[in-house]
Amino acid sequence: ESGERDKLIEAHELTGKLYHYLLMNTSHGQPALEYLRSRGVTDKQIDQFLIGYAPPEWDTLVRFLDKREFKLDLMEKGGLLIAKQDGSGYIDRFRDRIMFPIRNGEGKAIALAGRILGEGQPKYLNSPETMLFNKSRSLYNFNQSRAAMRKSRRAVLFEGYMDVVKAWTAGVNNGVATMGTSLTESHAMILQRNVDEVLLCYDGDSAGQAAVVKTIPLLEKAGLRVQVAMLPKGMDPDEFIEKNGAQAFIRETIEHPVSVTKFKLIYAKKNHILLEEEGQKNYMLEAVGIIAELDSPTEREFYLKDLSREFDISLEALKQDCFQHRQQHQ
Ligand code: ATP
Ligand code: MN
Ligand code: MN
Ligand code: MN
Repeated sequence: ESGERDKLIEAHELTGKLYHYLLMNTSHGQPALEYLRSRGVTDKQIDQFLIGYAPPEWDTLVRFLDKREFKLDLMEKGGLLIAKQDGSGYIDRFRDRIMFPIRNGEGKAIALAGRILGEGQPKYLNSPETMLFNKSRSLYNFNQSRAAMRKSRRAVLFEGYMDVVKAWTAGVNNGVATMGTSLTESHAMILQRNVDEVLLCYDGDSAGQAAVVKTIPLLEKAGLRVQVAMLPKGMDPDEFIEKNGAQAFIRETIEHPVSVTKFKLIYAKKNHILLEEEGQKNYMLEAVGIIAELDSPTEREFYLKDLSREFDISLEALKQDCFQHRQQHQ
């Protein structure tokens, strides 16, 4: 019902503002503010993304929403509150967390994500799926980045909220992230309606790199060109920016992406011991298989030549293996 939706959006809007106020203007928010500052998050970023703090009490939001005459059962349905087991009322879903409001394409607040201060599980807590919020169709920061996406015909896809926030200040105004889930076909469709190309900028750990492998075909199937930004081993964009600065991030990462084929070759290489004969051969054959997927003969030759030089194998032999591969996989 649209009345309920409007009420819930209003509640999310006010909740975001409450948490932001508590972070910036009260002593309760001080440790959270210090935590954010220790991670290099600036006041400008906090304002731009309306970052906030949910205090540790059980009923801060319950009382806030009740006083404003929101129906608490609706607030529970919307994911802001949790019903007590014994049915005697409600408690706040988010407690003692750094809060990131999540907005839909029109900029309406529809959900929240909360990060624990420091270590602990779960690191991030998101709103559940509700009448407003569907994780598999929402992209963090899409509302703020859409204009830049349309202008550049390009989007940068990150894994995390913090990556989007830090990259924004570094000048990446076309950055979005999924909400801790893999990219879905719906996400790809949303991107496809706004851009021609997606730059994947996932974490430089093994989970991030595996996610790149999984995400590439989804984007390609939606008709998007894909490039991959490479980060140093184990680092994510937010850490890279903290360590090396915004300029280095733009110059070394965003402005120097690799092609999908190059990425797949680098990724495949990690699984082989190149100091051993078997390892070398297996890698070469896997590489030929990756190259064989390319439709353009010129592109195939481009990568085969690289391989030929790297392992001192004739281009002729590699071309034959590549040809066979194409025959077998049609
Ligand atoms: P931070 O920099 O604050 O540690 P991160 O974005 O680097 O966060 P990752 O561990 O790289 O965190 O996870 C990437 C993204 O996956 C997060 O931004 C969040 O959206 C999601 N995520 C991580 N852990 C969880 C969790 N326990 N539950 C739900 N989503 C999660
Ligand atoms: Mn990660
Ligand atoms: Mn990360
Ligand atoms: Mn991070």
